Amino acid sequence: MDNKYDIAVVGSGPAGLSAAINGKIRNKRIIVFGSKELSNKVIKAPKVDNYLGFYGITGAEMKKQFKKHIDAMGIKITYERINAIYAMGDYYGLAVNEKIYEARTVILATGIEYTKPLRGEEEFLGKGVGYCATCDAPLYKGKIVTIIGYNKEAEEETNYVSELAEKVYYVPMYRGAYDLKRGNIEVVSDRPIEIQGKDRVTKVVLKEREIITDGVFVLKDSVAPNQLVPGLLVENDHIKVDLNMQTNLSGCFAAGDCTGKPYQYMRAAGQGQVAALNAVSYLDSLK
Ligand SMILES: Cc1cc2nc3c(=O)[nH]c(=O)nc-3n(C[C@H](O)[C@H](O)[C@H](O)COP(=O)(O)OP(=O)(O)OC[C@H]3O[C@@H](n4cnc5c(N)ncnc54)[C@H](O)[C@@H]3O)c2cc1C
Repeated sequence: MDNKYDIAVVGSGPAGLSAAINGKIRNKRIIVFGSKELSNKVIKAPKVDNYLGFYGITGAEMKKQFKKHIDAMGIKITYERINAIYAMGDYYGLAVNEKIYEARTVILATGIEYTKPLRGEEEFLGKGVGYCATCDAPLYKGKIVTIIGYNKEAEEETNYVSELAEKVYYVPMYRGAYDLKRGNIEVVSDRPIEIQGKDRVTKVVLKEREIITDGVFVLKDSVAPNQLVPGLLVENDHIKVDLNMQTNLSGCFAAGDCTGKPYQYMRAAGQGQVAALNAVSYLDSLK
C-alpha cells in the first residue's frame, strides 16, 4: 500500500460532490478539492425548478442539503485550489503551490467560467499575467501588483500578496464588503478593459483610469482546463469526453459544466456519477 488516493475529485459543485459520494459508496480512497461555499453557482441561484425532487428550492438551501449529504457520508472537502495536474504514467500529481497530492485517477469537475478573457490576458499569460497569486507572489516582492478578483476567495490571495508586494490594486468584479487587511491595498472600482505591455505586462487599462503595474492576477472560479492539465484535449472550450466521461488521458475523467452544455445541476450530478463509476472500473482493472 502506498499513500496515493484512488480518486482525486477537483471541484465541489454538483458534479464533484456526486462523483465523491459514488466513489465513497464504492469504498475508494477519495479526496475532494473545492471551496467552503461548495460552488458559487449553486449558492447564487435564486430558485431552481428543474432539480428532480426539489421543486422551488433556492440555491442556498440546495447547498445546505448537499453539505448535509456529504457530512452524513463522512466526506470532507479539502479547501485548496489545484494549480496544475500532471500525468505521471500510472498516477497523477496534483499541485497546490509547492505541495503535491497523488492519485491514481482524477475527476475534473471544475465548472466553467462564463466571462471571456480580457484583451491581452492570454497574450501576457506567464509574462506578468497569472492565475495563482499565492504561487507567484514571491516573484513580485517589492513590486506593484494588480489583482482582478471575480469572487470573495480572491480577497484572501490579495491579503497574502500584499505582505510581499509594495502596492496592490484590487479590482473587484462583484459587489459587497471587501475583507482586505493591509494599508498597501487600494480598491479600484472600475471595469478592466485591457492588459498592455511590450515583452511583459506594464499596465492595466480600465474604463476610467490606467494602472502602471508589474503583474496582473486574474482570479476566477476556474481556469481553462487545458491550462490546468497539460495535454488534456479540449474542444470549443470544453473538455472532450466519451460517454464514460473519459478524457483523452487514461485515468482522467471529467464531469459537469466543464464538459459542455447544457449547464445544469442534474446533468452535472449525473455525469459526476458516471465519471466516478468508470473511475472505479478503471481502478479495478489495474488489480
Ligand atoms: C445564477 C445561476 C442560476 C442557475 N440556475 C440553475 C437552475 O435553475 N437549474 C440548473 O439546472 N442550473 C442552473 N444553473 C447552472 C448550474 O449552476 C451549473 O450547471 C452547475 O453548478 C454546474 O455544476 P459543476 O459541478 O459542473 O460546476 P460548479 O458548480 O461551477 O462547481 C465547480 C467547482 O469547482 C471548483 N474549482 C474550480 N477549479 C478548481 C481548482 N483548480 N481547484 C479546486 N477547486 C476548483 C470551484 O470553486 C467550484 O466549487 C445556474 C447558474 C447560475 C450562475
